[in-house]
Amino acid sequence: MTVHIPVSLGTRSYGIHVGPGLISEAGKLLKPFAKGPVPIVTDSNVAFLHLDRFIGVLQDEGIEVHPIVLDAGEGTKSFAWLEKLIGQLLAAGVDRGGLIVALGGGVIGDLTGFAAGILKRGIAFAQIPTTLLSQVDSSVGGKTAINVPEGKNLVGVFHQPSIVIADTDVLGTLPRRELLAGYAEVVKTAALGNADYFSWLEKNAVQALNGEPEAIVRAVAEACKMKAGIVARDERESGERALLNLGHTFGHALETATGFSGRLLHGEGVSIGMALAFQLSVKLGLCPAADCERLIAHLKMVGMPSAISDIPGERPSPEVLIAAMAHDKKVKDGKLIFVLARRIGETFVTGDVPVDAVREVLEV
Ligand code: NAD
Ligand code: MG
Repeated sequence: MTVHIPVSLGTRSYGIHVGPGLISEAGKLLKPFAKGPVPIVTDSNVAFLHLDRFIGVLQDEGIEVHPIVLDAGEGTKSFAWLEKLIGQLLAAGVDRGGLIVALGGGVIGDLTGFAAGILKRGIAFAQIPTTLLSQVDSSVGGKTAINVPEGKNLVGVFHQPSIVIADTDVLGTLPRRELLAGYAEVVKTAALGNADYFSWLEKNAVQALNGEPEAIVRAVAEACKMKAGIVARDERESGERALLNLGHTFGHALETATGFSGRLLHGEGVSIGMALAFQLSVKLGLCPAADCERLIAHLKMVGMPSAISDIPGERPSPEVLIAAMAHDKKVKDGKLIFVLARRIGETFVTGDVPVDAVREVLEV
């Protein structure tokens, strides 16, 4: 049932392996890359649930491992933790020709990828993503970063992994809310460019989210395939890669307005943001209302938020949200950049959206 997805980037090409129980094969898969001591960077939650077994399968292949367990949470994507991590990687004795392993969600993947990208001018790293979000999104494409007080992901490098191993069984221990937040990026990938995949999700999302092996493997693998194709055509986001921001202009504004407080997870913001992007597209006469309704019906069916009123607590005002968008990095020459839809599976990037239309959508 395992699917192998090649990411074609010339000398930086690599493979994504998606399948149930793949951790048990991680030793064999990593062995060709593992020269010398191999640090395994993870967070405290993942360490508690999955680290011992992971260490075991690597040791079975004779790999010398050095576990490094960091605090769980977005706060770990910081300069302070980067410095700590680099100290521990150096202490583990990892070399230019060696390998660093990131075992965890997007926080661990982004931080470890960045450390690997700058340590000794670049060391190979492997991604073992353990959240749905990291399996379908952050582990694919080579963007790494930490946050600074001025904003999220502002300091980082492009550093492609040498291999990605996504074991869909580890999603079984993920809290439901995190699983659904990751699923927003799955829906996004389908909605932005693959109508057949979207139709498939309409029929199979419930099974996938309940962990039925065939369904979850296909859901993850299709999203990876889509993202891998986009990254292969536009590695540095000079064009098509920006489509992956569908729902994100609105989503980031909602995250900012709710204060990154746990009131709204990133994927929840993206879920509402996608609904708003489709509503805006309908308002501008670009997209049939039926496609927007279909998207929202799917989000609701799986239990995801699809309207600003779904956010608990005080409703952020349109003015606050528009101000947040104006501060976002998705602003070019003073214009708000949106990914808009012509239908489900067909989207485009535009900087040509009247603010009044945006305000109207935010008022509903
Ligand atoms: P995360 O890494 O914080 O993981 C979410 C929570 O789940 C954490 O508490 C973690 O400890 C826990 N967890 C992880 N795996 C688990 C498992 N199998 N069972 C139980 N608990 C588990 O967050 P995330 O949602 O995976 O990633 C979010 C980060 O990814 C953000 O920092 C975001 O900026 C980044 N990101 C990066 C890219 C990229 O292209 N590099 C793309 C999207 C998002
Ligand atoms: Mg996202």
